[in-house]
Amino acid sequence: MGNRIDGKAFADQLCESLKTEIESLVAEHQLRPTIAVVLVGNDPASHVYVRNKVRRCEQLGIESIEHRLTSSTSQTELLDLIEEMNQDSNINGILVQLPVPEQIDDKAVIDAIAPEKDVDGFHILNAGALAVGQNQMVPCTPLGSMMLLKDQLGDLSGMHAVVIGRSNIVGKPMANLLLQENCTVTVVHSRTKNIEEVCRTADILVAAVGIPQLVKADWVKEGVTIIDVGINRVLVEGTEEEGKSKLVGDVDFDQVIDKAAAVTPVPGGVGPMTIACLMYNTVAAAKKQTGIS
Ligand code: NAP
Repeated sequence: MGNRIDGKAFADQLCESLKTEIESLVAEHQLRPTIAVVLVGNDPASHVYVRNKVRRCEQLGIESIEHRLTSSTSQTELLDLIEEMNQDSNINGILVQLPVPEQIDDKAVIDAIAPEKDVDGFHILNAGALAVGQNQMVPCTPLGSMMLLKDQLGDLSGMHAVVIGRSNIVGKPMANLLLQENCTVTVVHSRTKNIEEVCRTADILVAAVGIPQLVKADWVKEGVTIIDVGINRVLVEGTEEEGKSKLVGDVDFDQVIDKAAAVTPVPGGVGPMTIACLMYNTVAAAKKQTGIS
């Protein structure tokens, strides 16, 4: 039986140390890290994500400024707000919760945020910096996944890591971080042939697909370490009438846990690490902008 990696406990620990650091930033430098969170429209999942992020900020002593905009907000209105926040030296981090309504181009939004305030790490300059190994703001989900991997495995050098998914926010930055740790990295995606065969060669398997419980026991080899990034809401079997739902990952946890050395659960794995790393990036941004090492 493999180890269930407790992402929630790790995230709580990270947040505790950030809280202490924030207290000393306030006391010694009169610096309270501040993040502006922008939510456009009524996507229910986005509302939950924003609520959780703001709650974590409050727990840690990070100031959060919320902007809730209607679903009819135009791209120009949103870009004007971002520019205002870019110019505001009291704001250290800017997060626009994605997805945005269809009249708004998400790439234009991401690239409008000043790179040094881009605590999500999605700006093209931050993505480029990561690709050439000069990390600035690293996207929160891959950063949190890497922290869990290093805590679990120590030195990752020489291991074969397979990343399922090649999105700009998870798959690609994850692959870059694994390369920086001297892994041999394979990225597979929807066009990959013999995907299960490739996955079976992985010492480390990161699943970031968005397909509930895609990865089964026969996709993995004995002793693999698995990071399940997926968050999928599915109906609980037998409750079709009431429509009761639960969250599952991209990995069939109950199947793989007997074969793997360690697996992150969903919920309670990568999700809490993503929020903790957003806090981490916000503190780092605040320090950098004010010249505190
Ligand atoms: P995405 O942008 O939709 O990318 C999904 C990737 O999976 C794509 O590269 C796609 O390939 C690939 N894919 C689709 N079907 C596949 C298949 N059958 N076999 C192999 N690869 C396949 O999704 P994302 O934003 O990266 O997110 C992935 C998952 O992580 C989602 O469940 C999301 O909710 C979750 N997520 C969780 C967190 C967290 O905090 N835990 C944060 C972000 C995302 P192509 O490129 O060929 O289309």
